[in-house]
Amino acid sequence: MIIDIDKLPKDGLELRRNFDFPSLDLVEEDAVFLQPVQTEVSIKRVDEEVWIKGRVKTVLSFICGRCLAPFEFPVDSKFDLVFLPEEMQELKEEFDDQDADRLFYQSRRIDVREVILEQLNLTFPARPLCSPGCEGLCAVCGKIRREGACGCQVKEKDARLEPLKILRKDKRK
Ligand SMILES: [Zn+2]
Ligand SMILES: [Zn+2]
Repeated sequence: MIIDIDKLPKDGLELRRNFDFPSLDLVEEDAVFLQPVQTEVSIKRVDEEVWIKGRVKTVLSFICGRCLAPFEFPVDSKFDLVFLPEEMQELKEEFDDQDADRLFYQSRRIDVREVILEQLNLTFPARPLCSPGCEGLCAVCGKIRREGACGCQVKEKDARLEPLKILRKDKRK
C-alpha cells in the first residue's frame, strides 16, 4: 500500500483497514498470527514532512523462551512518526541525538504496509515469556513446571558428575 506524497489530499488521509502479513515477515521466529492486523492510520503532509500517526492491533501466538509452550500475545500499540525527504538524510549528521531516530521517505513515496509491519515488530519483547515468572521445564523429566509438580528430586549436586568422583577415587588407590 504505497502513498504518493505529492498526491496526498490537503486535509490528509484517514485509513482504517486490516492487513494480512505472512508470519515469515515477523522478527520473532515461531510467531503466528491468530488475527489479522487491524490498523487505523492518519497521514498528513506538512511542507516536506509527512506525519503518520496510528494504531496497530492484533493477536499473535508466541513460543515461550523458557517452557517452550505457545501463548497468546495481544498487541495494541500506538505510534507517531515523522518522515523527512531522503535529501535530508545527508544532513543527518547535523541533527543532534534527539533526532537520531528520524525516518526518511524515498522517491516521494511511503509504503504504509511496511511502516505498519515495522511498528508491529517493534512491540515484540526481546525474549518472549508466557509469564514473567515462568519457571520453565523440569531439568529431570522435561515437564512444564507451571502445570504442577512432577515429583522429581532436583538435587543440588549434579548427578552427571558422580561417575567422575568414582574415577577420582579409583586413582587414589
Ligand atoms: Zn513459559
Ligand atoms: Zn520432573
